[in-house]
Amino acid sequence: MADYTTQICVIAGGPAGLSAAVQAAENGAEVILVEKNAAVGGAANMGMGPLGIGTKYQKRQMVDISVEKAFNMFMEYTHYNIDGRLVKRYFEQSAETIDWLEDMGVEFEGAFKYFTKSEPTWHIVKSDQGIGPRAASFMNKALYARAQELGVKFLMETPARKILKKDGKVCGVQAVDKNGKEIEIACSAVIVAAGGAGASPETIKAETGYTWGKDMFNFAIPGNTGDGIRMAWEAGADHVPVRIEQAASLEGIDDLPGSVANILGQPNLLVNLFGKRFMDEEQMQNTTFLSNAVSHQKHRVAFSIVDSSIVKYYMRNGVDEICLVRSNPDVSDFPDAVKMAKENGNKGLFIADSIEQLAEMTGIDKESLLETVDNYNDYCDSVDEEFFKRKRYLRPILKAPFYAGQFRPGGYGTVGGIRINENCEACDAEFEPVPGLYAAGADACNIYDDSYMFLLPGNSMGFAVNTGRIAGMTAAEYVQDQENAD
Ligand SMILES: Cc1cc2nc3c(=O)[nH]c(=O)nc-3n(C[C@H](O)[C@H](O)[C@H](O)COP(=O)(O)OP(=O)(O)OC[C@H]3O[C@@H](n4cnc5c(N)ncnc54)[C@H](O)[C@@H]3O)c2cc1C
Repeated sequence: MADYTTQICVIAGGPAGLSAAVQAAENGAEVILVEKNAAVGGAANMGMGPLGIGTKYQKRQMVDISVEKAFNMFMEYTHYNIDGRLVKRYFEQSAETIDWLEDMGVEFEGAFKYFTKSEPTWHIVKSDQGIGPRAASFMNKALYARAQELGVKFLMETPARKILKKDGKVCGVQAVDKNGKEIEIACSAVIVAAGGAGASPETIKAETGYTWGKDMFNFAIPGNTGDGIRMAWEAGADHVPVRIEQAASLEGIDDLPGSVANILGQPNLLVNLFGKRFMDEEQMQNTTFLSNAVSHQKHRVAFSIVDSSIVKYYMRNGVDEICLVRSNPDVSDFPDAVKMAKENGNKGLFIADSIEQLAEMTGIDKESLLETVDNYNDYCDSVDEEFFKRKRYLRPILKAPFYAGQFRPGGYGTVGGIRINENCEACDAEFEPVPGLYAAGADACNIYDDSYMFLLPGNSMGFAVNTGRIAGMTAAEYVQDQENAD
């Protein structure tokens, strides 16, 4: 005998699950949502906002972005290695989703770029703190309130454990309630949206080859331990690659003062352990590109180096490239902030009186680093023969103290694992929908191929909200059809 009976059970209350619950309830379905944590919002509580394409904000800002342009960019970027129908449906719906969110009280600051070369598709949510991290928690609050208004029942601190099936169809969810009691929810459809496996070093190792804490430093949101992908696979969904949503990370980034992350993230000299450059540092602003490039270096590490003249220049004039995630552009405390971070135990920051000493401290090959710095300083007077960096970013490394910060591969968590089609039906290895099983958000985000598409920022939260809605629509239709058939 089930403890609860409903039409649709949504596994998890991140933006994908919340959007699925709201949409399914708006389409007339009865919904129970189970969430492992004590609060809803998932990883998105740390983020700033979702993607939208062709929105009224972009029109007002006279931005030239259309579904056609974004779709073509996306497909070329991924070499068509992905499901174009799913991307098309997601992009096409994304502008109306911004209106849908506004109708439930979400406000937006506008449409923003993440870095100069990206498109302004990032719809940053208005919060009481201005533009900055955690703004999207205001979107999650509005989704939660709307779901409650529609009668969605929330079972908090109730991790789902298993998806139940009878006669080949989904028929329920097994979970553990906040008192540790095993419960059963009978339902005819399940939407899986449990946020991927960013907090599961074992899954990361098995699926991607990275070792968490050694060569992978992704955000590990407590609770995102890969339960959703595992449950869906066990219920018959096809196992497609799980990947890291890559974003390079300075060692100990969570505790670094903004000025340190800001200055060491600027497009100055970047070298590997051989003391060699390996990219046009201007591309560092695309943190996915940087993470990919660092992953290909010895011991998956790279060092950003500045001298005291560059630091002084930034302290006087501000940094070259603004990052909205580090919303405070003031870098005037940099020298003290580096010292303080080192005293607080950061092992990835270095201050040296000479290039030789910097090489000894970091383990970079000394002779090679001296030669690289020499050549780089020459390029500053002429052109970057090596990687064609634009003149405006070429500043010589001449004057002590020299500072270095260690970059490692990192990411926002994992994406992908469950095969879905454009209706967010979870599909088996024959691409046939598993009856009653749906998936959305990070668990089913198979649209980036091997690299997160930062040129269209807001992409992963955008995918979560939009696929959540699609899953909610499709599941509501399915449960209605099931009832009509009975
Ligand atoms: C620091 C940071 C900043 C970010 N900023 C942005 C941004 O500005 N724009 C953008 O597009 N993307 C951003 N992202 C990524 C974005 O937040 C995610 O893509 C998005 O949250 C994924 O949504 P989701 O609903 O699939 O999963 P999540 O938001 O991760 O939610 C998953 C939920 O599942 C729950 N759960 C897990 N297992 C179970 C279980 N067994 N039973 C029940 N519940 C379970 C978890 O507790 C969690 O609440 C950011 C990520 C991070 C870490």
